[in-house]
Formats: sequence, C-alpha cells, structure tokens
Amino acid sequence: MKNIVLLGAPGAGKGTQAALIANEYNIPHISTGDIFRKNIKEGTELGKLAKSYIDAGQLVPDSLVIDLVADRLRQDDAKNGYILDGFPRTIAQAEALDKVADISVVIDIELPFETIIERLGGRLVCMCGETSHVSLLGDSKTCPKCGAEMYVREDDKPETVRARLEIYERQTAPLVEYYGKKGNMVTVDATVGTIEKVFEQVKKVLE
Ligand code: AMP
Repeated sequence: MKNIVLLGAPGAGKGTQAALIANEYNIPHISTGDIFRKNIKEGTELGKLAKSYIDAGQLVPDSLVIDLVADRLRQDDAKNGYILDGFPRTIAQAEALDKVADISVVIDIELPFETIIERLGGRLVCMCGETSHVSLLGDSKTCPKCGAEMYVREDDKPETVRARLEIYERQTAPLVEYYGKKGNMVTVDATVGTIEKVFEQVKKVLE
C-alpha cells in the first residue's frame, strides 16, 4: 500500500505526475483543486464557497478542505493507497492529515519560479483532468486524452499566478521542512526536462 503526497509549487507538475503515478500503480488521484473545480462547475454549496478564494489565487480555508479530504480518504477505492495532489497546503492541513492517514512517502517536485511562470502562462486544462500547454497543442485546444475543448484556468492569469506563488512561499513551502524532519520526503528535480524524465525519477522513489 502506498499513500503518497506530492508537494511542489503551483505549476511544478504535480497534477501531471500524479496522473501518471495513479495510472502506473492503479491508485486514485486525489486532487483538491480538481474537486473544487468540479464543485464550482456543478454549482454546489462547496463550489460557491470556494470560488472567490480560488479565483483570487488564495487558499480555500482549512475548515473547508480538511473534512473534505478526510471523507475522500475513507472511500473504498483509497483502501489500497492513493496519491494526494495539492493537499496538504498548510501546516494545519498536514497535522490534520497525520491524524487520519499514514503517509508512506512525500515527493517534493522542485522547479524554479521563472520556469513556473513561463509554464503557467500557456497552460491549458481539461475537465477530464488532463493538462497541456499551448506550445504543445498549437491552435487546436482539443484534449489529447478525451477530445473535449481545453481551457485556460481562471487562476492562471499572470497577476493571480504571482499571488499563488507568494502564498505558496508563505503557507505551503514550510511543509518541506515539516516533512523533511519526519524523514519520509524525497526531492525530485523537475529541471531535468521532459515529463517522462521526471516520472523516471518519481518511479525510482516509489520502487
Ligand atoms: P490546484 O489545482 O491544486 O492548483 O488548486 C487550485 C486552487 O484550489 C488553489 O489555488 C486554491 O485556491 C484551492 N486549493 C486546492 N487545494 C487546496 C488546499 N489543500 N487548501 C486550500 N486551498 C486549496
């Protein structure tokens, strides 16, 4: 059983690597960002509460996130492991997670902020969870996985990206020290280039 946490700044490639890990090890990919976006699209109460924070690049309050994840981890498909992408993002979330889960490994995906800003500038996402970049798709915005039209995330606008990176530094980066002290964290250098090369490193950590 592998209970995995992926850490890293927005745009470091957590979502992409999480999807590959989920596929390779046949475990659910639990992305709090995806859960919120789905709720916003469906117009649920949670979606309405979360939307203003997300659009401003702020974190959704811990009180709205922690129970959501705890419930998700209790579902049957998470019994044999899972990959958490985008949670925890604060020390309070990490402490809450420690109470309900036994995390086998934390993978911290590191990428310099300049590269992140370039990437988020042209990022395209799909409702199916797929992520791509304008430089890969050219004029077509067709999702290579499901064929739907991909779109630019509301919070990928340049001013919002800056806010998200600042919040990452202040609230999420302290988790690197938190997990570093526990001794179950491994850092993966995402400057090695392609998605496949980063995934090779991730697999070495998991095997
Ligand atoms: P992501 O897709 O992981 O980049 O998440 C998109 C947005 O959802 C973030 O910028 C936050 O506003 C919100 N969000 C996702 N996960 C969390 C979390 N664990 N805690 C607080 N807010 C979150």
